[in-house]
Amino acid sequence: MFNSLSDRLTATFKNLRGKGRLSEADVDATVREIRRALLDADVAVPVVREFASRIKERALGSEVSGALNPGQQVVKIVNEELVTILGGETRRLRLAKNPPTVIMLAGLQGAGKTTLAGKLSKWLKGQGHSPLLVACDLQRPNAVTQLQVVGKRAGVPVFAPHPGTTSEFDAPTGDPVAVAEAGVAEARQKLHDVVIVDTAGRLGVDAEMMDQARRIRDAITPDEVLFVIDAMIGQDAVNTAKAFEDGVDFTGVVLSKLDGDARGGAALSVASVTGKPVMFASTGEGVDDFELFHPDRMASRILDMGDILSLIEQAEANWDKDEAARMAKKFADQEDFTFEDFLAQMQQIRKMGSMKKMLMMMPGAQNMRQQLEQFDEREIDRVEAMVRSMTPHERLAPKIINGSRRARIARGSGVHVSEVNGLLERFGQAQKMMKKMAQGGMPGMPGMSMG
Ligand code: GDP
Repeated sequence: MFNSLSDRLTATFKNLRGKGRLSEADVDATVREIRRALLDADVAVPVVREFASRIKERALGSEVSGALNPGQQVVKIVNEELVTILGGETRRLRLAKNPPTVIMLAGLQGAGKTTLAGKLSKWLKGQGHSPLLVACDLQRPNAVTQLQVVGKRAGVPVFAPHPGTTSEFDAPTGDPVAVAEAGVAEARQKLHDVVIVDTAGRLGVDAEMMDQARRIRDAITPDEVLFVIDAMIGQDAVNTAKAFEDGVDFTGVVLSKLDGDARGGAALSVASVTGKPVMFASTGEGVDDFELFHPDRMASRILDMGDILSLIEQAEANWDKDEAARMAKKFADQEDFTFEDFLAQMQQIRKMGSMKKMLMMMPGAQNMRQQLEQFDEREIDRVEAMVRSMTPHERLAPKIINGSRRARIARGSGVHVSEVNGLLERFGQAQKMMKKMAQGGMPGMPGMSMG
């Protein structure tokens, strides 16, 4: 799921790597690629259109951040917009103030409702609830038996309309509305605090089925109506979701079969088109293959940018705006980069956490693991010690640091003179680079790239 979409997006972002500034043409090309990738992933056309125009507007807009380079900035925007179309905040199940909480499941036949009923009830049981499953799918042969099997696996009782079967209950047969009502009454009487009502579906949306679902809903006034949709159905997802929205007006969406090789379009379209949040994800046939749906986590899974997103968050949280502004002004005034600035920058980097941890979070870090393991954080300590052994005058005018001063700095910081020489050499290069950058604009945090 999402593999090819992820690959396409990652490839798109790679093209932005190392760019100091994004031209309108860069943004256009990127947005075009994103649009194509989404369409190929079966995302509904209106959703793609809206998404692309939001990205373009924001990428060209004034969202400039000192902490991020332009490539990271675009990743951040795309990520935020993905979270938005996936429904924004994580939406929790609404429990009734006066139990039982009534949850009704709706969706096409084969969408995964019965399977979900088992998963949801097991999960709720694990949370300390005592759910009751109610079998109102009287259309499909075996649906009731299937729910009973699922209930047994979940260790949750099933209220079913067939006396004499494995059910421990006796319920009216034939009329799903009556079964639903009786099920809720049973739950109230036996002190089940959650009732999950499984309803019938058809292979296609039809008026009779929708009418039945609506009558069940009106009879039991559920706290949640969950619309279960097979993530594999692609472009059809939008029409199906709209039909159920008109028909039963669901309160939340459950995406099933997210473990399959669907291209992900349904997942990205349904919440956006209906304005209803995706609440759960079903990821297999087993009773435990079930997750709460977190739009933010799903978005990072789609972007598949390693942990670059948390890196971006960290950089933004810790980036000292005043310091960045001071540096920017310095560049603009063509002042020299000094060891005082160098120290200030090292403080910024330190604030962002352990260097090694940061590097490990970069995409592709797995391949560099060995080198990273060898990376010695004390190297930064040594550099800092050398700078601190310089006099204030030396820090501002490093040119005066001659041989005897180098020897003194080495002694003061407990390193070899060759290390001081190396530092001064690297510093000279950095100074030159800073000059160049001053002419070409601030490319964001020096030393950080997109991987
Ligand atoms: P219902 O008609 O809506 O009740 O659908 P079912 O719960 O009977 O599911 C239809 C088929 O899809 C069954 O074979 C399930 O085992 C399978 N299924 C349901 N959910 C998932 C899922 O998340 N992943 C996979 N791979 N199969 C699923």
